[in-house]
Amino acid sequence: MSARGKEESFVQVTIKNTIVELIQGDITKCEVDAIVNAANTSLLGGGGVDGAIHRAGGKAILEECLKIRNQKGGCAVGEAVVTTGGNLKCRYVIHTVGPVWNGGAKQEEEKLKSCYRSSLKLADSMNVESLAFPNISTGIYGYPKERACIAAIDEVTAYLVNSGTSIKRIIFVCFDEINYELYKQELKKTASNL
Ligand code: ADP
Repeated sequence: MSARGKEESFVQVTIKNTIVELIQGDITKCEVDAIVNAANTSLLGGGGVDGAIHRAGGKAILEECLKIRNQKGGCAVGEAVVTTGGNLKCRYVIHTVGPVWNGGAKQEEEKLKSCYRSSLKLADSMNVESLAFPNISTGIYGYPKERACIAAIDEVTAYLVNSGTSIKRIIFVCFDEINYELYKQELKKTASNL
């Protein structure tokens, strides 16, 4: 990302062979190989980060989403599909669909972890070396932010430790201050337990 909002408290942790960074900002401005979109099952675009990505990325992204929708009916919760980055600085957008929070007994955590795992696997299959994640499900879908943060960091850490990934850099992009502070705490904990 060209302008870091939080330069003074920039957080960076190395997990096995991958640098994991935390920033507060707008994911559409990230200069990485791929960004992840918190999409919905229709792949037709929506509000929040999905709307911002489609607005900034232009119609090429929606056209590829429509093709995928015609071929496979959209994208299931916990799964991921890939399109061009269109006018964005990234080569690809990986669209994953987070769970709607429904009290916690509807496999929300496993579904959310699956979003991160599916996105990482897809990124590796496309030889992506740098990847940015938003805080999936923590906006309109109402997933409690602290739980979502712990699930995201646990799953990404497990993947980096166990998968033999060739991803060199992962950025967690927090749009709001609350998520930024939660991620800062959790990443520091993770670093001290490595
Ligand atoms: P969901 O439906 O998965 O909850 P949202 O887009 O509503 O998706 O929210 C997911 C997260 O993305 C929220 O934490 C929200 O603050 C954040 N967000 C919204 N716009 C952006 C953006 N431009 N860049 C990064 N994160 C964003």
